[in-house]
Amino acid sequence: MFAANSLFAQRDFFHETTLLAPKDTSKTAFPATVLLNLAGADRKMEAGLFPAADPATIEKYLPKGGAPASTTSYALAVGQETILFDTGLGDVNWLKTLNALVPIVGNRAKPENVKLILLTHLHGDHVGGLLQENARRFPNAKVLCSKPEYDETPPQQLEKFKAAYGKDFAAFNFDDIVFENAEYKVKIKALDASGHTPGHTVFLAEFESDGAAVKKLIIGDLLHAAALQFPAPEVCARYDREPAKAVVARKRILDFAAKEKIPVKGMHFPFPYEGEVEKNDSGGYVFRTNE
Ligand SMILES: [Zn+2]
Repeated sequence: MFAANSLFAQRDFFHETTLLAPKDTSKTAFPATVLLNLAGADRKMEAGLFPAADPATIEKYLPKGGAPASTTSYALAVGQETILFDTGLGDVNWLKTLNALVPIVGNRAKPENVKLILLTHLHGDHVGGLLQENARRFPNAKVLCSKPEYDETPPQQLEKFKAAYGKDFAAFNFDDIVFENAEYKVKIKALDASGHTPGHTVFLAEFESDGAAVKKLIIGDLLHAAALQFPAPEVCARYDREPAKAVVARKRILDFAAKEKIPVKGMHFPFPYEGEVEKNDSGGYVFRTNE
């Protein structure tokens, strides 16, 4: 659904991009494996995006009429290569954050060394960076989305990506391990989070960073307004194609994150884009960031 682009015309909350460098780069300038934020434009999720929500719920959690949000994607540098999770809007702001990776993780973040791009889904604010004037921006990357997303997205919306990437644009099945590297102890699994779109995917990334085992859930558009949908996960944005299914997926993944204590990283969370999830007593969740 590339029509989602109209939403992203809003630039009221745009300001300078932020990029989180690893906290301590003194030991190794270029850590072997590191997960970085590609924070695009800040934005606001207006209350009107949630038309089916109970007005009292909106009033309670969005007293200012909207929730702070962003358009963010992620990069995992592994060895000499980089894996991207979504490609944001592909606008100037996103390109700046992509270019800013090179001083942090070295040449492996250059477009020719991006070897894999994992897409949570095919909305315009997640695939925007794939092309550069209709050609592939990443000459050596494989681009993968889930099979239901690939099969159920109108073919005319896929044409430009298929034309640019050819057989490098392909699909995975839910529960597939979509990337594994034994040397760097990296494993990425695709989890079914369909509902927002037919093949919406959450990625469970496991890797070792500075000698410690790390797990992260990269949850795409499982939530659009963190301030509203953690406490009230039954609320859907109007972009959720199948709302009932989106609610089931939201609760299933957040239950998993809470039980396993795995931090979640959203594509529309406000800074710092990541936090831990706990269940509360009223069927919702508490989201704790490190800020
Ligand atoms: Zn989105």
